[in-house]
Order: sequence, then structure tokens, then C-alpha cells
Amino acid sequence: MVPPVSPGRQGSKASAPRGKSDQRELLPPAAGVYPPASLLPWNYLMTSKTRVAALEGWFTLDEHAPQLLGSRCRSCGTCYFPKQSLYCRNPACDSTEFDEAPLSRRGTLWSCTNAAYAPPEPYVAATPYEPFAIAAVELAAEKMVVLGQVVAGVGPEDLRVGQTMELVLETLSEDAESIKLIWKWKPVTETAS
Ligand SMILES: [Zn+2]
Repeated sequence: MVPPVSPGRQGSKASAPRGKSDQRELLPPAAGVYPPASLLPWNYLMTSKTRVAALEGWFTLDEHAPQLLGSRCRSCGTCYFPKQSLYCRNPACDSTEFDEAPLSRRGTLWSCTNAAYAPPEPYVAATPYEPFAIAAVELAAEKMVVLGQVVAGVGPEDLRVGQTMELVLETLSEDAESIKLIWKWKPVTETAS
């Protein structure tokens, strides 16, 4: 004989608690909503090294929209890069207080030149040495001129004074643990319609 089984205990009442049926809508997002791997920045895929600034505190490490970090006088509003923190250089201002100021990411090319010879130590240059261009760019809002290397592959012959330049980060050097980044100027190539 089969012992009698009481079916009541674990069946009927466990199914759908009253009033909770809406929770079914709160499922995690379906697979496929994230950008495909081909759209991710290369350095997420290629390395797990720490990204550090070659000059700490001089710029943000935002991959897509890095900004130089200057300082702005609290009294007269004058901007400085590199940061000024002791006294304001405006002769008409005696302030000694500054706020950190992220600077314009774009500006116009004011002048450029070619660094035809390898810089002396401790500068780290690729071997064999490849000449690079140096650009002086007048920032869009602050109207001050900031020097920087031009991105790899772009020489002075590719640039014209007055064109729009944008700030980007490139690798200066890297070791086993970290990648040192430096800001560079990149010509903005917007196709005119
Ligand atoms: Zn000032």
C-alpha cells in the first residue's frame, strides 16, 4: 500500500503572493544592451595597466574628453596654466586664492614647430627617434596659449595656423604596471558639408 500523501501543504498557496505580480517587470536587462566589444576603447581590451598622468594634477584622465587643469584667481578671474597658487600675476590684483579650473578642450593653432632632435634625458623618446611637432594653441575660452606635442603622425606640414585643435591623451611611456599619459594637440578634422 502506498501511504496516503496530503497534497495541500506545499502546493497551492506558494504560487503567486497577492499583489506581487508586478515584480516580474523588474528583471535585469537582457543580454546585448551593452556596447559590442568593437566599440570599447582599445585600452580596456588590451591592458589592465593603471593609467597615470605623467605630470600629476596637470590634466584629467578622462579618455574621451580630457581637460588641462589650470587655476583661476578668485579675485580677478585670471586663469593660469600651469597652476598658479602663490600669488596672482595680474599687477592690479593682490589675491592669493585660487580655484582649480578645467580648461577649454579646444583652441586655435597659434604656431607650431618641429622638434627635429631627440630631447635630452630624462625625457623618454622612442628609439629610433621620430621627430614630432609642437603646437602652441590658444584656448577657446581662456585665450591663453598652451604648448603641447602634436599627436603622432601629424607634422607641421599638415597644420595651418588658425585651425581648430583638440586636447587628447597619448602614451608617453609605459612599464609593467602603468601607462604614463601626456596631453597632446590633435587637429580637428570635421568634414564640412
Ligand atoms: Zn587675480
